[in-house]
Amino acid sequence: MKKTSILRQLPRLTLLALLWVSAGVDTHSLQAQNLPALGDTGREDLSPVAERKLGEEIMLGIRSDKDYIDDDVISEYLNNFGSQLLEVHQEARGDANFDFFFFVARDPAINAFALPGGFICVYSALILIADNESQLASVMAHEIGHIAQRHIARMIGNQKQDMLIPIASLILAALTMRSNPDAAMALAIGGEGIAMQRQLDFSQNAEREADRVGLQILRDGGFDPSGMVAFFERMQNSSRGYSDNYPAFLRTHPMTTERIADIQSRIQSETFKKHVDSPDFQLFRSRIRVLQDESTQGLTDAREYFENQVSQSTAHKLSNPAAEYGLALVALKQNNFTGAQSYLDKARNDATQNSVFFANLACDILSANKQYGAALNQAESALQEFPVSRSISRQYANALIANHEAEKAITYLRDQTLLYRKDFGLQEQLAKAYAADGKEALQHLALAQAYALSGAISPAMDQLGIARRSSDASYYDDAMIDALERDLRERYKDELEALKKKTEKN
Ligand SMILES: [Zn+2]
Repeated sequence: MKKTSILRQLPRLTLLALLWVSAGVDTHSLQAQNLPALGDTGREDLSPVAERKLGEEIMLGIRSDKDYIDDDVISEYLNNFGSQLLEVHQEARGDANFDFFFFVARDPAINAFALPGGFICVYSALILIADNESQLASVMAHEIGHIAQRHIARMIGNQKQDMLIPIASLILAALTMRSNPDAAMALAIGGEGIAMQRQLDFSQNAEREADRVGLQILRDGGFDPSGMVAFFERMQNSSRGYSDNYPAFLRTHPMTTERIADIQSRIQSETFKKHVDSPDFQLFRSRIRVLQDESTQGLTDAREYFENQVSQSTAHKLSNPAAEYGLALVALKQNNFTGAQSYLDKARNDATQNSVFFANLACDILSANKQYGAALNQAESALQEFPVSRSISRQYANALIANHEAEKAITYLRDQTLLYRKDFGLQEQLAKAYAADGKEALQHLALAQAYALSGAISPAMDQLGIARRSSDASYYDDAMIDALERDLRERYKDELEALKKKTEKN
Protein backbone atom coordinates (compact mmCIF):
# COMPACT_ATOMS: atom_id res chain seq x y z
CA MET A 1 0.00 0.00 0.00
CA LYS A 2 1.30 3.41 -0.88
CA LYS A 3 2.07 5.45 2.17
CA THR A 4 0.27 8.75 2.20
CA SER A 5 2.53 11.60 3.11
CA ILE A 6 1.63 13.06 6.46
CA LEU A 7 2.98 16.46 5.50
CA ARG A 8 0.73 16.69 2.47
CA GLN A 9 -2.24 16.32 4.76
CA LEU A 10 -1.14 18.52 7.58
CA PRO A 11 -2.43 21.93 6.54
CA ARG A 12 -5.91 20.47 6.62
CA LEU A 13 -5.19 19.45 10.14
CA THR A 14 -4.11 22.87 11.25
CA LEU A 15 -7.02 24.42 9.46
CA LEU A 16 -9.27 22.13 11.41
CA ALA A 17 -7.34 22.79 14.56
CA LEU A 18 -8.18 26.44 14.16
CA LEU A 19 -11.75 25.80 13.17
CA TRP A 20 -12.66 23.30 15.84
CA VAL A 21 -13.05 25.62 18.72
CA SER A 22 -14.76 24.84 21.94
CA ALA A 23 -18.16 26.25 22.63
CA GLY A 24 -18.33 29.68 24.13
CA VAL A 25 -15.67 31.54 22.19
CA ASP A 26 -16.22 35.22 22.45
CA THR A 27 -16.03 36.81 19.05
CA HIS A 28 -16.05 40.44 20.09
CA SER A 29 -14.14 42.68 17.76
CA LEU A 30 -10.49 43.11 18.53
CA GLN A 31 -8.80 46.28 19.61
CA ALA A 32 -6.04 47.24 17.27
CA GLN A 33 -3.09 48.05 19.43
CA ASN A 34 -2.92 45.79 22.45
CA LEU A 35 -3.61 42.42 20.86
CA PRO A 36 -6.26 41.22 23.25
CA ALA A 37 -6.96 37.54 23.68
CA LEU A 38 -9.74 35.96 21.70
CA GLY A 39 -11.91 35.93 24.76
CA ASP A 40 -12.11 33.78 27.83
CA THR A 41 -13.69 30.47 26.98
CA GLY A 42 -14.38 29.76 30.60
CA ARG A 43 -12.12 26.73 30.61
CA GLU A 44 -8.42 26.13 30.81
CA ASP A 45 -6.10 26.17 27.83
CA LEU A 46 -3.69 23.39 27.11
CA SER A 47 -0.75 24.09 29.41
CA PRO A 48 2.47 25.25 27.70
CA VAL A 49 4.31 22.11 28.83
CA ALA A 50 1.56 19.87 27.48
CA GLU A 51 1.40 21.94 24.31
CA ARG A 52 5.12 21.38 23.70
CA LYS A 53 4.74 17.69 24.43
CA LEU A 54 1.94 17.41 21.89
CA GLY A 55 4.01 19.25 19.28
CA GLU A 56 7.03 16.99 19.93
CA GLU A 57 4.87 13.92 19.58
CA ILE A 58 3.54 15.07 16.20
CA MET A 59 7.09 16.01 15.13
CA LEU A 60 8.26 12.44 15.80
CA GLY A 61 5.91 11.34 13.03
CA ILE A 62 6.80 14.23 10.74
CA ARG A 63 10.57 13.72 11.01
CA SER A 64 10.24 10.25 9.54
CA ASP A 65 8.07 11.50 6.69
CA LYS A 66 9.62 11.33 3.22
CA ASP A 67 8.63 14.93 2.53
CA TYR A 68 10.44 16.30 5.56
CA ILE A 69 13.61 18.07 4.29
CA ASP A 70 16.27 16.97 6.71
CA ASP A 71 19.19 19.18 5.73
CA ASP A 72 21.64 20.88 8.08
CA VAL A 73 22.32 23.97 5.97
CA ILE A 74 18.63 24.61 5.21
CA SER A 75 17.81 24.14 8.87
CA GLU A 76 20.60 26.48 9.96
CA TYR A 77 19.56 29.29 7.62
CA LEU A 78 15.85 28.99 8.40
CA ASN A 79 16.29 28.74 12.16
CA ASN A 80 18.75 31.65 12.28
CA PHE A 81 16.25 33.63 10.26
CA GLY A 82 13.40 32.59 12.57
CA SER A 83 15.46 33.51 15.65
CA GLN A 84 15.95 36.96 14.22
CA LEU A 85 12.16 37.33 14.07
CA LEU A 86 11.68 35.94 17.58
CA GLU A 87 14.38 38.22 18.96
CA VAL A 88 12.05 41.18 18.59
CA HIS A 89 9.07 39.33 20.03
CA GLN A 90 10.41 37.32 22.94
CA GLU A 91 6.89 36.98 24.40
CA ALA A 92 6.14 34.54 21.59
CA ARG A 93 8.16 31.92 23.46
CA GLY A 94 5.56 32.07 26.21
CA ASP A 95 5.80 30.97 29.84
CA ALA A 96 7.40 27.69 28.85
CA ASN A 97 10.09 29.55 26.86
CA PHE A 98 9.52 27.47 23.73
CA ASP A 99 12.52 26.65 21.59
CA PHE A 100 11.02 27.36 18.22
CA PHE A 101 11.90 25.02 15.41
CA PHE A 102 11.39 25.93 11.76
CA PHE A 103 11.50 23.32 9.04
CA VAL A 104 10.82 22.85 5.34
CA ALA A 105 8.59 20.25 3.71
CA ARG A 106 8.67 19.26 0.05
CA ASP A 107 5.35 20.39 -1.28
CA PRO A 108 4.06 22.09 -4.43
CA ALA A 109 1.41 23.91 -2.39
CA ILE A 110 2.05 27.48 -1.31
CA ASN A 111 1.61 27.09 2.40
CA ALA A 112 3.01 27.34 5.89
CA PHE A 113 1.58 26.17 9.21
CA ALA A 114 2.23 26.16 12.91
CA LEU A 115 2.01 23.16 15.20
CA PRO A 116 1.49 23.30 18.97
CA GLY A 117 4.61 24.15 20.99
CA GLY A 118 6.60 26.28 18.55
CA PHE A 119 7.09 24.06 15.48
CA ILE A 120 6.64 25.91 12.20
CA CYS A 121 6.64 24.37 8.74
CA VAL A 122 7.20 26.33 5.53
CA TYR A 123 6.58 24.57 2.23
CA SER A 124 9.28 24.45 -0.43
CA ALA A 125 7.00 26.04 -3.04
CA LEU A 126 6.33 29.03 -0.80
CA ILE A 127 10.05 29.65 -0.35
CA LEU A 128 10.59 29.42 -4.09
CA ILE A 129 8.02 32.11 -4.90
CA ALA A 130 9.25 34.51 -2.21
CA ASP A 131 11.22 37.29 -3.91
CA ASN A 132 12.98 38.57 -0.86
CA GLU A 133 13.52 38.01 2.85
CA SER A 134 10.75 40.41 3.85
CA GLN A 135 8.22 38.26 2.01
CA LEU A 136 9.44 35.06 3.64
CA ALA A 137 9.53 36.85 7.00
CA SER A 138 5.92 37.96 6.60
CA VAL A 139 4.69 34.37 6.42
CA MET A 140 6.93 33.13 9.22
CA ALA A 141 6.02 36.07 11.46
CA HIS A 142 2.33 35.36 10.88
CA GLU A 143 2.83 31.72 11.97
CA ILE A 144 4.80 32.88 15.02
CA GLY A 145 1.76 35.02 15.74
CA HIS A 146 -0.48 31.94 15.90
CA ILE A 147 1.80 30.34 18.47
CA ALA A 148 2.35 33.54 20.43
CA GLN A 149 -1.41 34.00 20.71
CA ARG A 150 -1.72 30.31 21.63
CA HIS A 151 -4.48 29.74 19.11
CA ILE A 152 -4.07 25.98 18.89
CA ALA A 153 -3.58 25.54 22.63
CA ARG A 154 -6.75 27.48 23.28
CA MET A 155 -8.63 25.45 20.73
CA ILE A 156 -7.58 22.08 22.11
CA GLY A 157 -8.16 23.05 25.72
CA ASN A 158 -6.73 21.45 28.82
CA GLN A 159 -5.84 17.77 28.56
CA LYS A 160 -4.29 15.37 31.00
CA GLN A 161 -0.67 14.48 30.28
CA ASP A 162 -1.52 10.87 29.52
CA MET A 163 -4.07 11.97 26.90
CA LEU A 164 -1.46 13.73 24.77
CA ILE A 165 0.11 10.66 23.17
CA PRO A 166 -3.26 9.22 22.17
CA ILE A 167 -4.22 12.62 20.73
CA ALA A 168 -0.97 12.96 18.80
CA SER A 169 -1.09 9.44 17.45
CA LEU A 170 -4.74 9.80 16.52
CA ILE A 171 -3.89 12.97 14.63
CA LEU A 172 -0.98 11.28 12.85
CA ALA A 173 -3.00 8.15 12.14
CA ALA A 174 -5.83 10.25 10.78
CA LEU A 175 -3.38 12.07 8.54
CA THR A 176 -2.04 8.89 6.99
CA MET A 177 -5.52 7.60 6.22
CA ARG A 178 -7.02 8.73 2.97
CA SER A 179 -10.46 8.09 4.35
CA ASN A 180 -12.02 11.04 6.05
CA PRO A 181 -9.20 12.50 8.14
CA ASP A 182 -11.51 15.34 9.08
CA ALA A 183 -13.82 13.08 11.02
CA ALA A 184 -10.95 11.42 12.84
CA MET A 185 -9.51 14.80 13.68
CA ALA A 186 -12.79 15.97 15.12
CA LEU A 187 -12.86 12.84 17.20
CA ALA A 188 -9.28 13.34 18.30
CA ILE A 189 -9.86 16.72 19.77
CA GLY A 190 -13.34 16.09 21.05
CA GLY A 191 -15.06 18.57 18.81
CA GLU A 192 -18.79 18.36 18.64
CA GLY A 193 -21.00 20.13 16.16
CA ILE A 194 -20.33 23.81 16.44
CA ALA A 195 -22.12 26.53 14.59
CA MET A 196 -20.29 27.22 11.34
CA GLN A 197 -20.39 30.95 11.85
CA ARG A 198 -18.68 30.65 15.19
CA GLN A 199 -15.88 28.58 13.71
CA LEU A 200 -15.37 31.12 10.97
CA ASP A 201 -15.37 33.96 13.45
CA PHE A 202 -12.74 32.26 15.56
CA SER A 203 -10.66 31.48 12.54
CA GLN A 204 -10.89 34.99 11.11
CA ASN A 205 -10.15 36.61 14.44
CA ALA A 206 -7.20 34.27 14.86
CA GLU A 207 -5.96 35.25 11.41
CA ARG A 208 -6.27 38.93 12.20
CA GLU A 209 -4.42 38.48 15.47
CA ALA A 210 -1.66 36.55 13.74
CA ASP A 211 -1.41 39.28 11.09
CA ARG A 212 -1.04 41.94 13.74
CA VAL A 213 1.62 40.09 15.67
CA GLY A 214 3.32 39.30 12.37
CA LEU A 215 3.29 42.93 11.33
CA GLN A 216 4.78 44.03 14.65
CA ILE A 217 7.55 41.47 14.25
CA LEU A 218 8.33 42.63 10.71
CA ARG A 219 8.40 46.25 11.76
CA ASP A 220 10.53 45.71 14.87
CA GLY A 221 12.81 43.28 13.06
CA GLY A 222 13.72 45.82 10.40
CA PHE A 223 11.87 44.08 7.59
CA ASP A 224 9.74 45.79 5.03
CA PRO A 225 6.12 45.27 6.18
CA SER A 226 4.82 46.04 2.73
CA GLY A 227 6.39 42.66 1.91
CA MET A 228 3.37 41.14 3.61
CA VAL A 229 0.89 42.82 1.29
CA ALA A 230 3.09 42.27 -1.76
CA PHE A 231 3.48 38.60 -0.97
CA PHE A 232 -0.18 37.95 -0.26
CA GLU A 233 -1.09 39.71 -3.49
CA ARG A 234 1.53 37.71 -5.36
CA MET A 235 0.03 34.49 -4.02
CA GLN A 236 -3.42 35.59 -5.06
CA ASN A 237 -2.18 36.39 -8.55
CA SER A 238 -0.41 33.07 -8.90
CA SER A 239 -3.76 31.38 -8.31
CA ARG A 240 -5.52 33.21 -11.13
CA GLY A 241 -6.85 30.80 -13.74
CA TYR A 242 -5.98 27.76 -11.62
CA SER A 243 -9.04 27.37 -9.49
CA ASP A 244 -8.14 23.78 -8.60
CA ASN A 245 -4.73 24.93 -7.60
CA TYR A 246 -5.75 27.82 -5.41
CA PRO A 247 -2.81 28.36 -3.04
CA ALA A 248 -3.40 26.44 0.13
CA PHE A 249 -1.97 29.24 2.23
CA LEU A 250 -4.85 31.40 1.12
CA ARG A 251 -7.35 28.63 1.71
CA THR A 252 -6.24 28.10 5.28
CA HIS A 253 -5.64 31.82 5.64
CA PRO A 254 -8.67 33.48 4.11
CA MET A 255 -7.23 36.60 2.56
CA THR A 256 -10.16 38.89 2.37
CA THR A 257 -9.87 42.28 0.82
CA GLU A 258 -10.63 43.55 4.30
CA ARG A 259 -7.57 41.81 5.69
CA ILE A 260 -5.22 43.26 3.08
CA ALA A 261 -6.78 46.68 3.63
CA ASP A 262 -6.29 46.25 7.37
CA ILE A 263 -2.58 45.62 6.93
CA GLN A 264 -2.23 48.41 4.39
CA SER A 265 -3.83 50.99 6.64
CA ARG A 266 -1.45 50.02 9.41
CA ILE A 267 1.67 50.53 7.38
CA GLN A 268 0.54 53.50 5.30
CA SER A 269 1.54 56.29 7.61
CA GLU A 270 4.94 54.86 8.41
CA THR A 271 8.26 55.03 6.68
CA PHE A 272 10.54 52.05 6.64
CA LYS A 273 14.15 51.45 6.01
CA LYS A 274 14.66 49.22 3.05
CA HIS A 275 15.66 45.79 4.23
CA VAL A 276 18.82 44.46 2.59
CA ASP A 277 18.65 40.71 2.04
CA SER A 278 21.49 38.47 3.12
CA PRO A 279 23.23 36.97 0.05
CA ASP A 280 22.47 33.59 1.68
CA PHE A 281 18.76 34.04 0.97
CA GLN A 282 19.23 33.24 -2.72
CA LEU A 283 21.64 30.39 -1.99
CA PHE A 284 19.02 29.02 0.40
CA ARG A 285 16.40 29.12 -2.34
CA SER A 286 18.72 27.46 -4.84
CA ARG A 287 19.36 24.65 -2.39
CA ILE A 288 15.62 24.21 -1.78
CA ARG A 289 15.03 24.07 -5.52
CA VAL A 290 17.40 21.11 -5.80
CA LEU A 291 16.29 19.29 -2.64
CA GLN A 292 12.56 19.62 -3.35
CA ASP A 293 12.85 17.00 -6.11
CA GLU A 294 15.96 14.84 -6.39
CA SER A 295 14.53 12.50 -9.02
CA THR A 296 16.40 12.25 -12.35
CA GLN A 297 13.79 14.48 -13.97
CA GLY A 298 13.75 16.86 -11.01
CA LEU A 299 17.52 17.38 -11.22
CA THR A 300 17.35 17.89 -14.99
CA ASP A 301 14.62 20.51 -14.53
CA ALA A 302 16.59 22.27 -11.81
CA ARG A 303 19.71 22.35 -14.00
CA GLU A 304 17.74 23.87 -16.88
CA TYR A 305 16.28 26.45 -14.55
CA PHE A 306 19.68 27.48 -13.20
CA GLU A 307 21.24 27.56 -16.68
CA ASN A 308 18.47 29.90 -17.83
CA GLN A 309 18.98 32.10 -14.81
CA VAL A 310 22.68 32.54 -15.56
CA SER A 311 21.96 33.74 -19.11
CA GLN A 312 18.93 35.88 -18.20
CA SER A 313 18.67 39.40 -16.91
CA THR A 314 15.07 39.76 -15.75
CA ALA A 315 13.81 41.49 -12.63
CA HIS A 316 13.24 38.42 -10.45
CA LYS A 317 16.30 36.55 -11.61
CA LEU A 318 18.61 34.72 -9.28
CA SER A 319 22.03 36.21 -8.69
CA ASN A 320 24.75 34.49 -10.70
CA PRO A 321 26.45 33.00 -7.63
CA ALA A 322 23.11 31.51 -6.53
CA ALA A 323 22.47 30.00 -9.97
CA GLU A 324 26.04 28.63 -10.14
CA TYR A 325 25.71 27.26 -6.63
CA GLY A 326 22.51 25.52 -7.77
CA LEU A 327 24.33 24.03 -10.77
CA ALA A 328 27.14 22.83 -8.49
CA LEU A 329 24.65 21.12 -6.17
CA VAL A 330 22.85 19.46 -9.08
CA ALA A 331 26.21 18.19 -10.40
CA LEU A 332 27.06 16.75 -6.98
CA LYS A 333 23.69 14.98 -6.82
CA GLN A 334 24.49 13.51 -10.25
CA ASN A 335 27.89 12.33 -8.94
CA ASN A 336 29.71 14.68 -11.29
CA PHE A 337 32.35 15.82 -8.80
CA THR A 338 34.54 17.72 -11.26
CA GLY A 339 31.54 19.64 -12.59
CA ALA A 340 30.36 20.38 -9.06
CA GLN A 341 33.76 21.75 -8.08
CA SER A 342 34.05 23.90 -11.17
CA TYR A 343 30.58 25.46 -10.72
CA LEU A 344 31.32 26.04 -7.04
CA ASP A 345 34.56 27.82 -7.95
CA LYS A 346 32.62 30.04 -10.37
CA ALA A 347 29.99 30.82 -7.74
CA ARG A 348 32.63 31.75 -5.18
CA ASN A 349 34.44 33.85 -7.72
CA ASP A 350 31.29 35.81 -8.60
CA ALA A 351 30.12 36.25 -5.01
CA THR A 352 31.07 39.27 -2.93
CA GLN A 353 31.68 37.16 0.17
CA ASN A 354 32.13 33.58 1.32
CA SER A 355 29.12 31.72 2.73
CA VAL A 356 28.32 28.71 4.89
CA PHE A 357 26.50 27.37 1.82
CA PHE A 358 29.73 27.41 -0.24
CA ALA A 359 31.92 26.01 2.56
CA ASN A 360 29.45 23.23 3.26
CA LEU A 361 29.20 22.23 -0.39
CA ALA A 362 32.99 22.22 -0.80
CA CYS A 363 33.25 19.72 2.04
CA ASP A 364 30.37 17.60 0.70
CA ILE A 365 31.99 17.35 -2.75
CA LEU A 366 35.26 16.11 -1.21
CA SER A 367 33.51 13.60 1.09
CA ALA A 368 31.34 12.26 -1.73
CA ASN A 369 34.53 11.78 -3.75
CA LYS A 370 36.03 9.90 -0.76
CA GLN A 371 38.78 12.50 -0.27
CA TYR A 372 38.36 12.33 3.48
CA GLY A 373 41.65 14.00 4.42
CA ALA A 374 40.95 16.98 2.18
CA ALA A 375 37.36 17.12 3.47
CA LEU A 376 38.65 17.33 7.03
CA ASN A 377 41.04 20.16 6.12
CA GLN A 378 38.21 21.99 4.37
CA ALA A 379 35.89 21.54 7.39
CA GLU A 380 38.62 22.70 9.77
CA SER A 381 39.25 25.92 7.89
CA ALA A 382 35.51 26.52 7.42
CA LEU A 383 35.06 26.19 11.17
CA GLN A 384 37.69 28.91 11.67
CA GLU A 385 35.73 31.18 9.39
CA PHE A 386 32.24 30.24 10.66
CA PRO A 387 32.81 29.24 14.29
CA VAL A 388 29.12 29.24 15.26
CA SER A 389 27.80 27.43 12.19
CA ARG A 390 26.03 24.26 13.31
CA SER A 391 26.14 22.65 9.87
CA ILE A 392 29.90 23.21 9.52
CA SER A 393 30.41 21.92 13.06
CA ARG A 394 28.52 18.75 12.14
CA GLN A 395 30.58 18.29 8.99
CA TYR A 396 33.77 18.72 10.99
CA ALA A 397 32.78 15.96 13.45
CA ASN A 398 31.74 13.67 10.58
CA ALA A 399 35.04 14.33 8.80
CA LEU A 400 36.94 13.39 11.98
CA ILE A 401 35.02 10.11 12.21
CA ALA A 402 35.62 9.36 8.51
CA ASN A 403 39.35 9.99 9.10
CA HIS A 404 39.48 7.47 11.97
CA GLU A 405 39.88 10.21 14.55
CA ALA A 406 36.92 9.04 16.64
CA GLU A 407 38.47 10.05 19.97
CA LYS A 408 38.99 13.60 18.78
CA ALA A 409 35.41 13.63 17.46
CA ILE A 410 34.11 12.46 20.84
CA THR A 411 35.95 15.21 22.73
CA TYR A 412 34.71 17.81 20.27
CA LEU A 413 31.10 16.56 20.31
CA ARG A 414 30.98 16.35 24.09
CA ASP A 415 32.00 19.99 24.28
CA GLN A 416 29.28 20.81 21.78
CA THR A 417 26.63 18.98 23.82
CA LEU A 418 27.48 21.26 26.75
CA LEU A 419 26.80 24.26 24.53
CA TYR A 420 23.66 22.87 22.89
CA ARG A 421 22.08 20.70 25.53
CA LYS A 422 18.82 20.15 23.70
CA ASP A 423 20.23 19.19 20.29
CA PHE A 424 19.35 15.54 19.76
CA GLY A 425 21.23 15.48 16.45
CA LEU A 426 24.46 16.08 18.36
CA GLN A 427 23.74 13.10 20.60
CA GLU A 428 23.09 10.94 17.52
CA GLN A 429 26.43 12.01 16.12
CA LEU A 430 28.11 11.34 19.45
CA ALA A 431 26.63 7.83 19.40
CA LYS A 432 28.15 7.36 15.94
CA ALA A 433 31.55 8.52 17.22
CA TYR A 434 31.37 6.15 20.22
CA ALA A 435 30.44 3.30 17.88
CA ALA A 436 33.48 4.09 15.71
CA ASP A 437 35.59 4.05 18.87
CA GLY A 438 34.13 0.69 19.98
CA LYS A 439 32.46 2.13 23.11
CA GLU A 440 29.21 0.19 23.28
CA ALA A 441 27.68 1.33 26.57
CA LEU A 442 28.38 4.99 25.82
CA GLN A 443 27.04 4.62 22.30
CA HIS A 444 23.66 3.44 23.61
CA LEU A 445 23.64 6.01 26.37
CA ALA A 446 24.08 8.74 23.76
CA LEU A 447 21.31 7.20 21.66
CA ALA A 448 19.08 7.18 24.74
CA GLN A 449 19.85 10.88 25.20
CA ALA A 450 19.01 11.54 21.55
CA TYR A 451 15.64 9.78 21.85
CA ALA A 452 14.86 11.47 25.15
CA LEU A 453 15.61 14.91 23.72
CA SER A 454 13.34 14.32 20.74
CA GLY A 455 10.52 13.21 23.04
CA ALA A 456 10.65 9.48 22.18
CA ILE A 457 10.62 8.14 25.71
CA SER A 458 9.99 4.45 25.17
CA PRO A 459 12.91 3.96 22.72
CA ALA A 460 15.06 6.01 25.10
CA MET A 461 14.32 3.55 27.93
CA ASP A 462 15.11 0.63 25.58
CA GLN A 463 18.52 2.14 24.76
CA LEU A 464 19.27 2.59 28.47
CA GLY A 465 18.56 -1.13 28.92
CA ILE A 466 20.99 -2.03 26.11
CA ALA A 467 23.61 0.34 27.56
CA ARG A 468 23.32 -1.30 30.97
CA ARG A 469 23.75 -4.79 29.53
CA SER A 470 26.79 -3.79 27.44
CA SER A 471 29.91 -5.71 28.41
CA ASP A 472 32.02 -2.54 28.55
CA ALA A 473 29.71 -0.59 30.91
CA SER A 474 31.96 0.84 33.59
CA TYR A 475 30.91 1.79 37.10
CA TYR A 476 30.90 5.40 35.95
CA ASP A 477 28.76 4.61 32.88
CA ASP A 478 26.25 2.78 35.11
CA ALA A 479 25.93 5.87 37.28
CA MET A 480 25.17 8.01 34.22
CA ILE A 481 22.66 5.45 32.93
CA ASP A 482 20.89 5.42 36.31
CA ALA A 483 20.83 9.20 36.47
CA LEU A 484 19.23 9.53 33.03
CA GLU A 485 16.70 6.83 33.84
CA ARG A 486 15.71 8.55 37.11
CA ASP A 487 15.36 11.81 35.24
CA LEU A 488 13.15 10.26 32.54
CA ARG A 489 10.99 8.45 35.12
CA GLU A 490 10.48 11.69 36.99
CA ARG A 491 9.68 13.77 33.92
CA TYR A 492 7.49 11.26 32.14
CA LYS A 493 5.81 9.49 35.02
CA ASP A 494 2.31 9.51 33.54
CA GLU A 495 3.45 8.58 30.09
CA LEU A 496 5.52 5.64 31.30
CA GLU A 497 2.57 4.48 33.41
CA ALA A 498 0.37 4.52 30.33
CA LEU A 499 3.00 2.63 28.30
CA LYS A 500 3.32 0.04 31.04
CA LYS A 501 -0.42 -0.53 31.15
CA LYS A 502 -0.50 -0.92 27.38
CA THR A 503 2.34 -3.48 27.48
CA GLU A 504 0.63 -5.45 30.24
CA LYS A 505 -2.57 -5.63 28.18
CA ASN A 506 -0.77 -7.00 25.10
ZN1 LIG B 1 -2.89 31.98 9.82
